[in-house]
Amino acid sequence: MFDTVLIANRGEIALRVLRACRSLGLKTVAAYSEADAALRHVSLADKSICIGPASAASSYLDPSRLLLAARLTGAGAVHPGYGFLSENADFAQAVEEAGLTFIGPSARAIRLMGDKVSAKKAMAQAGIPCVPGSEGALPDDAAIVRALADEVGYPLIVKAAGGGGGRGMRIVRAAADLETSVATTRQEAGQAFRNSQVYIERFLEHPRHVEIQILADGHGNVVWLGERDCSMQRRHQKVIEESPAPHISREAIAAIGARCADACRSIGYTGAGTFEFLYEDGHFFFIEMNTRVQVEHPVTELVTGVDIVREQIRIAQGERLTIQQEDIRFVGHAIECRINAEDARNFMPSPGTVSQWIAPGGPGIRVESHLYSGYTVPPHYDSLVAKLLAHGATREEAIERLKVALAEIEIAGIATTVELHRKLMSDEGFVKGGFDIHHLERRMDAGLFDDEVRHDR
Ligand code: ADP
Repeated sequence: MFDTVLIANRGEIALRVLRACRSLGLKTVAAYSEADAALRHVSLADKSICIGPASAASSYLDPSRLLLAARLTGAGAVHPGYGFLSENADFAQAVEEAGLTFIGPSARAIRLMGDKVSAKKAMAQAGIPCVPGSEGALPDDAAIVRALADEVGYPLIVKAAGGGGGRGMRIVRAAADLETSVATTRQEAGQAFRNSQVYIERFLEHPRHVEIQILADGHGNVVWLGERDCSMQRRHQKVIEESPAPHISREAIAAIGARCADACRSIGYTGAGTFEFLYEDGHFFFIEMNTRVQVEHPVTELVTGVDIVREQIRIAQGERLTIQQEDIRFVGHAIECRINAEDARNFMPSPGTVSQWIAPGGPGIRVESHLYSGYTVPPHYDSLVAKLLAHGATREEAIERLKVALAEIEIAGIATTVELHRKLMSDEGFVKGGFDIHHLERRMDAGLFDDEVRHDR
């Protein structure tokens, strides 16, 4: 079994993985690009190795460089984090074929769930409720597509089988626009994902995004760890996540959670995973599964006390889960604010040197960040620089704790989205809870920052 883990990622998640490895007595190798030599985990790791230039395509996204780095440093396992190659089945397979352990599900499971058409089919078979739509990819025949669309009804959404990151989707409100929308999505998907298969499903007008976290070991043990409400989104990107999801009955969550665990058993899934659902009018509709650790996993860690990354690594070591479903207690309420190096008003990226970083603290506060005073945020990658979480006995207490922490946090030298979170903690819709996925964009359009604009003048 492996004693050294190559961390094939950067930023806060690389640091998070390093900490989990250390807690298990494992050695670590930081594989970093030329732009990332100053990252915190690079200096903390037992070994570090530069894998290429700043461009992700020639570093974090290049399987051959990562495999070479593992060979040169004697790593026995690879943790992919999230993003980059974490959901790349060919990479998982290459890692295994090189005689190393991929810390994640099998390449087969990643492949099955990575194609949204095959994922939906497998999940429907496993008894997971899906958004009504075309069963399978759309054929070429325009008349058949029209008939399928009429059956699904309008508005509908055309989605790429290989889509991800909020790309490869197009809403169609009227039959007259169907043919061009399908053709354009097909063409874009072919270019962006090298898979031009598309499918259609009913477009839900005011859904919430609610997801179920699962963990499955190689011995047939599967647990579900409750849900996260990730409805606070901008351009399909999550901004705030919380657990439990406000105003949804515990019985409904337990029922869908148990179904997700069953689905994992039926497809022989191992590792950590998330079933993403749209939730509307009391119903869950599966949209996709993420076969990796997610940005928002600490929300679940706070309410369950389970260290998800540690379990992920233990599962890869062939160990059994440390917990069974009966052991899991959901305590209190947790909320995460994603802090990005972006202007809070227009979300323009703001790379640069952090002249001062002071992390907040206090009861129930958790900070996941690779920042330090003097660190320079490079322009080449995702702009997430910190995750600020609060855990409280109640949702109100978690919000109060976040307000205190957000007033205290200091990130000078770059623009960040801290101010957006300060505003949202007092936003009526957020405080009430249970808002839909369009809430944030509606609030931005209605002038969330209006007082300040006036003030500036
Ligand atoms: P990706 O893999 O790109 O994240 P998803 O299938 O998870 O794509 O969808 C991303 C987001 O797009 C969802 O969180 C939701 O906001 C929106 N969306 C996807 N499918 C639908 C649908 N059928 N109706 C309404 N919104 C949808």
